[in-house]
Amino acid sequence: MWWAAHQVLVRFRDGTSLAAMEAAHARVGGVPLQTFRSVSNLELVRLPDRLTVWRGVHRYAALSSVRYAQPNFVYRVNETDRSAARFDVPVNTPNDPHYPDMYNLNNTGQSGGTPDADIDAPEAWDLATGDTHVLVGSIDTGVDYTHPDLRPRVDFNRAECYGTPGVDDDGNGYVDDCHGIDTYNHDSDPMDDFTHGTHTSGTIGAKGNNGVGVTGINWKVTIIGCKSHSEGGSGTTASIIECMQYMDIEKDMGFNVVATNNSYGGCPEACGYDQATSDAILSNEHHGILFVASAGNSASNNDTLPTYPASYPLPNIISVAATDANDAMANFSSYGHESVDLGAPGVSVLSTLLGGGYGYLSGTSMSAPHVTGVAALLKAQDYRRNWKQIRNLILAGGDLDPSLVGKTVTGLRLNAYGSMTCSNRRGFGPELPLPNSTGPTVTIAVLDINCAHTAAHDFMVTVTPGGDSVQVIDNGKGPDLAKKDGILTGEWTPSPCHNGDYTFTFPNGKSVTTTLTC
Ligand code: CA
Ligand code: CA
Ligand code: CA
Repeated sequence: MWWAAHQVLVRFRDGTSLAAMEAAHARVGGVPLQTFRSVSNLELVRLPDRLTVWRGVHRYAALSSVRYAQPNFVYRVNETDRSAARFDVPVNTPNDPHYPDMYNLNNTGQSGGTPDADIDAPEAWDLATGDTHVLVGSIDTGVDYTHPDLRPRVDFNRAECYGTPGVDDDGNGYVDDCHGIDTYNHDSDPMDDFTHGTHTSGTIGAKGNNGVGVTGINWKVTIIGCKSHSEGGSGTTASIIECMQYMDIEKDMGFNVVATNNSYGGCPEACGYDQATSDAILSNEHHGILFVASAGNSASNNDTLPTYPASYPLPNIISVAATDANDAMANFSSYGHESVDLGAPGVSVLSTLLGGGYGYLSGTSMSAPHVTGVAALLKAQDYRRNWKQIRNLILAGGDLDPSLVGKTVTGLRLNAYGSMTCSNRRGFGPELPLPNSTGPTVTIAVLDINCAHTAAHDFMVTVTPGGDSVQVIDNGKGPDLAKKDGILTGEWTPSPCHNGDYTFTFPNGKSVTTTLTC
């Protein structure tokens, strides 16, 4: 199934009265199941049995009070075939005994790999090892908060951990949410039952230097568990956006939520544009929360076959491809010269498993938490950094990886130390020019950064054929979603409009081409 049966998501127009919403439901025969705080006027609706999901979408979309209606899409975790994973872990002697097997953090030739395939973790740890006051959200299959290497990392909400059982002590709308919540089963227990979220959480922040198991990229960090995915690894639009909303709520309550990890993709890793999810991620941006997404495991080009949520053109999303122990892009990894930002290790990554275990998993699912982990480490290194600066340091501070050139915006593989010590490094890459849904106007966006900061306020882009000039500007107005974030945006409307290929050329000679249908 590519969407939940008998359910649709309906977003009413601003100002629609309760009576008008009820009238709309009465006309279609739908029953509202759930509302969302961070996306106003959005409702999850149960359809009558006689209506298919797409007929329900069309029936709602035809009503004047409805802004949009869509299926409640299914999102699968982005790990590869688990039967290929090795769960036999050699035991070594240093402090975290499995650390020598983690080529992704420090490669000394493990798995026959090359020394430059790692993210320079030990060099980074000379500068910072993390901070429990930095929080990251794990939107996944849950997290095993009883695991000896994770237990101290998941008690994030002291008001509830030490509060009165059965009472919403902190008034955030969730009872007993000590470790996080479960939006799939609708309770406050994010215990993992599929191991995927326990593995990704371990990469971000398994307790380091404690003489046990593995170490995370952060020796210290606090993980908010949000179980959006089932015991089979599937979630829905409704379950993931409730998790995104929960992170907004916790940020509003004063928790220092820096980023969320999102190692999953839509049906089958490339299905319809999901407006409700895009709206919820934009709300995360307004709360200053980065959204790290796996690029997908279908070995396809996200520029031509978008993978959601990784492919939404939102500035707080970092889309991550997978690399291996030889620093080559993984054969399963999805890619995109104008839509996937960078690579990170994602083949045979050793981390925590359910039930106190350790083991290897592969997938862009394993790559994304490397980026999420480095985001938390950058925040621990300097509390003043905002989401824009953290994103830019990640994008500017990686290592050049020939297998990622032409396959990602930056051509870089993540490097924690490089990001933490970034100095005068330019990052430049056009994003996919997107024709607007209405009319022939094209949105042009380009990343132009120098380490943490935007490199230019504005410049002109030349369009061929025709010779038009278009200004792109980093002012946070109109199509530019964030001010001074290093992404410059402009719009171009051809007049008259002719079908065909158009090339946009930047002052440094680089260019990007898109096909326009008038
Ligand atoms: Ca609560
Ligand atoms: Ca450990
Ligand atoms: Ca901008």
